[in-house]
Formats: sequence, C-alpha cells, structure tokens
Amino acid sequence: MQHDGFEAPYRLEYTYRRSTGPVIGRFLGALRDRRLEGVKTSAGRVLSPPGEYDPETGEDVGAPIDVGPGGVVTTWTWIAEPKPLHPVARPFAWALVRLDGADTAMLHAVDVGGDSGNIRTGLRVSPRWRAVRTGSIRDLECFVPEDLSARTEVRTLATESSGPVAMMPSSVQLDYTITAGRHLSTYLRALATKRIVGGRCPSCTKVYLPPRGACPTCGVPADAETEVADRGTVTTFCIIRIPFDAAPFPPPYASVAVLLDGADMPIFHLVRGVEPEEVRMGMRVRAVWVPDAELGPTLASIRWFEPSGEPDASYESIEGHL
Ligand SMILES: [Zn+2]
Repeated sequence: MQHDGFEAPYRLEYTYRRSTGPVIGRFLGALRDRRLEGVKTSAGRVLSPPGEYDPETGEDVGAPIDVGPGGVVTTWTWIAEPKPLHPVARPFAWALVRLDGADTAMLHAVDVGGDSGNIRTGLRVSPRWRAVRTGSIRDLECFVPEDLSARTEVRTLATESSGPVAMMPSSVQLDYTITAGRHLSTYLRALATKRIVGGRCPSCTKVYLPPRGACPTCGVPADAETEVADRGTVTTFCIIRIPFDAAPFPPPYASVAVLLDGADMPIFHLVRGVEPEEVRMGMRVRAVWVPDAELGPTLASIRWFEPSGEPDASYESIEGHL
C-alpha cells in the first residue's frame, strides 16, 4: 500500500536489578549448583518453581526439597522463529514441565532439535545446563528429551552449594517497527523545518500535540493542522538524580512537560540553562533548536528548552492542561 508515513525501527530496552527474596533466591542459587528445588505446602503439595506462600491457603511453605531433574511436558507451544534473546537459537517449544516430585509445572524452553514433530505432551525431558552459571533461570539453558547421561551428570553434582542469590539483573528488551502514520509524519517532517504542528479538533477546538488524527474526547477527525509556538510554559517537571545508562546528561537535570503556546497538550522534553532546583510550574521556556545542518524529522531537533526570561505564567493558565 502506498503511504507517505514514516517507518522506523524502535527498541525499548532497560535493565534493572531486583531483589529475589529468600525463596526465589534459594531456588536461583540451586540452579547455579545444577539443582532444581521445590517447596512443600502444609497440605503436602510440592510447588516448583517454589512460591513464597501456599497459593491456596496463603500459609507459609516448608523447607526446600529437591525435585527433578527429569520431568514431563504437560503442554507446549512451538516457536518457529526464535528471537535473539530466546534461550534456543533454532525453533523450539515453550513448555510447561512438571518435574518429578512436583505437583506444579514450570515454564521453560524445550529443544527437540528444531523439529516440531519431536515435541508432544507427555514427553520425558531433562535439563541442559549452561557451562557458566550465575544464579539465574538462564542457568537452566533448556530442557531436552530425556537421556540417562544428563540425569547422571546432574546427580553427581547435587551436593554442591554456593548459597542463595540476593539480587538479579532483570532485562527488558522489546523491538518494534513503528509506523508513524499520516498525522505523526506531518508533525515529524515539520520539526525538520523548525516548525511544530498540532492537530485541532473542530468540535472542542483542542489542539493535540503531536496530532492524533482523531479527538479522543469527541470521536471526530482532528486533522486541521495548526502550527504552535516553540515557546511555552512548564506545567510539571521531574528532577532526575539517579544516573542510568541512557541519561542525556550527568544528573541532576530536569525533565519537563511544556505546554507550548497554542497547544492544549504538553510535550515532554529537557530543560537546561537553569539550576534544577529553580525549575517550577509556570516557568516560561523556549526551544533551543539544533544547528540547521542537524535538523531532522524528530523531536531531537529541539535540543532542549531554556528559560525565556518572561514572567511566570499563572497556575490558572495551565491547570486545565496538567
Ligand atoms: Zn474534540
């Protein structure tokens, strides 16, 4: 189909560290030692992966017990095109595997040689461990159709213990292709020429920025292009004090919502040229554009905002736009 909209790859990615708690931490520590653990509830059910409490009664669970290492596939789904972060590079199955001695099943990958004809409910599987283990669910690379050598290998190492895991990195990575569509493409193209274009609703007259094509309140097309100013008023703000990998500047710095003159929706951007402690609601700011040679169809054409020197706007002038 012919269209004049932009399309671009987009990756949403962030890694944080999370505490595991005593039960999951112990489970992850056992994985590092090539052991699989469960916990027993007061009713005698064995949960693996372990839970911190009995999901049926809310009671505490008992001490850890070894389960597996073998198990049985209770259900599965086939992944014909693995993604880069998947644990198996060739086609594989995500499966629920009920480990021997457990009453619940754990979700993990099953590598059956890339052929979906080899996976079935009821298949006996055993774990394949990574050579280098860090105390992560990824230490268990995947399950494979059971064979005795894998089972023997695990049993010989079952007495190791390196203790529970207290913290774990937790990574999120999502790859998209973003299709901007006609209205957002118009907005992006205008930014390459130092113009900021919103879309006005003919019914309620609100100017949406970026333009959305339709007014979510009135449910009518809101495609009347309206140019707004490259200066405006800070409606809300946030001072970033914690460093992170993608930070544009060393902290502290301020991220602001700016209600541009002529728009009814604030945009989010950075403010410079003022101490973070002095950033405030109602502060008047103006856009600092990148040099002409660096302009492009992106909000990054505005490097940041800086104080314009005008008197602060009243709270009443922004209270309907927060
Ligand atoms: Zn409207």
